[in-house]
Amino acid sequence: MTDKLMVSVSGVRGRVGEALSPEVITRFAAGFGTWAAARAAKPRAAIVVGRDSRVSGPMFQRAAIAGLQSVGCDVIEVGVVPTPTVQLAVEFHHAAGGLAITASHNPIEWNALKFIAPSGLFLSAEEGASMREAMAKGVALATWDRLGEVRSDPDAVARHLDAILALPYLDVEAVRQRRLHVALDCVRGAGGPIMTALLERLGCRVSAINLEADGRFPRPPEPIAANLGELEALVRLAGADVGFAVDPDVDRLALIDETGHAIGEDYTLALAASVVLRHRKGPLVTNLSTSRIVDDIASEAGVPVIRTPVGEVNVAIRMRAEGAPVGGEGNGGVIVAGLHLGRDAPAGAALVLQMLTGAGGETLSGITKRWPRYAIVKDKLDRPSGSLHQIYDTLRSAFPGAGVDLEDGLRLTWSDSWLHVRPSGTEPIVRVIAEAPTEARARELVARARAPLDAMQSVR
Ligand code: MG
Repeated sequence: MTDKLMVSVSGVRGRVGEALSPEVITRFAAGFGTWAAARAAKPRAAIVVGRDSRVSGPMFQRAAIAGLQSVGCDVIEVGVVPTPTVQLAVEFHHAAGGLAITASHNPIEWNALKFIAPSGLFLSAEEGASMREAMAKGVALATWDRLGEVRSDPDAVARHLDAILALPYLDVEAVRQRRLHVALDCVRGAGGPIMTALLERLGCRVSAINLEADGRFPRPPEPIAANLGELEALVRLAGADVGFAVDPDVDRLALIDETGHAIGEDYTLALAASVVLRHRKGPLVTNLSTSRIVDDIASEAGVPVIRTPVGEVNVAIRMRAEGAPVGGEGNGGVIVAGLHLGRDAPAGAALVLQMLTGAGGETLSGITKRWPRYAIVKDKLDRPSGSLHQIYDTLRSAFPGAGVDLEDGLRLTWSDSWLHVRPSGTEPIVRVIAEAPTEARARELVARARAPLDAMQSVR
């Protein structure tokens, strides 16, 4: 199954040298360009193209650009940049759309093409369906005199940084005075330049590893605690106030406290949101797999929590509809509406530094210790060939007292805990996540949910 191309609403993803080839990228880029151009108000459509640092990135970028030019789209190249920088550039240029060439936190052998709408959001389910319809009808190739032109925009990262530092939630001068010491791990993804520039402008002292944007990830690139041992050690060695880890396309941020302990990605959103909600009230929007800690932060601020199916675009669309000032995902993805409706690790980092600045000298571990602790256990397994709905039915009968939400897989809720079973939209796996006041209880929930899934796999 892993050698298949994974086509989702907002992108297409696969392993390099297996399902993902330059031909696939060219075909989807041409299809996207055709669809975007047909909807664009201008006679000539421009598409922003950026990528992360993966070794396969330059090859796929050339393939994507060729596809766009071939259907008469102009291309604005922004280079090796965070995905949120591509999203912002789409808005800045009033472009007909954007393509980000990145497999986000997936391992080194993966790459992907992600489709960005003119709004700067990823494609919604409706937009994705309409694009695939347009592709099925076939693309019209441009004649020699109508091929798209390519120009580059070297200033996308600088504009992104300026926009973050202009956020009304930040007191840049106060953060600068505080001279926080930050340990940084960019996993040799696209984050090195923007994260170091951000920290420099915020007056931080920096001890960093893996800043080279060459895509040769020295460890699994997902910023989960299990992968951050080197950064934890660096925080201790350097005596840093905080450690920041970002994923290769810089939309997820994980934190290490000053004792050298990864505090769990769910706390990134909680910390960032608490800063924003001090200034601007409004609902906090997050997905069904995010920790209950955001409920505590929201209730402290006197605002409601609204939960959506997993997927950045679902959160972003709901934030827009509700006028929410802040939202995001428990995987370390912070969305600040005043910046743009997309997950943004540098923005999250700036808000965390503001939190530490305003905490009157309190440490990160001190702040998180005051908050309720929940144990969240995340597990995943290969997607079984049988129907997941059978599994959902089995689990619903096994837990007759639970609240049931079927908006995105199956989510069972109790007064102090929850269990979420859902197929990943980007990988051929099923995710099983549980949260409870104790780790033993969360593990028990995961084990009980896995039992019917493992049984189904073993009969395959
Ligand atoms: Mg990412």
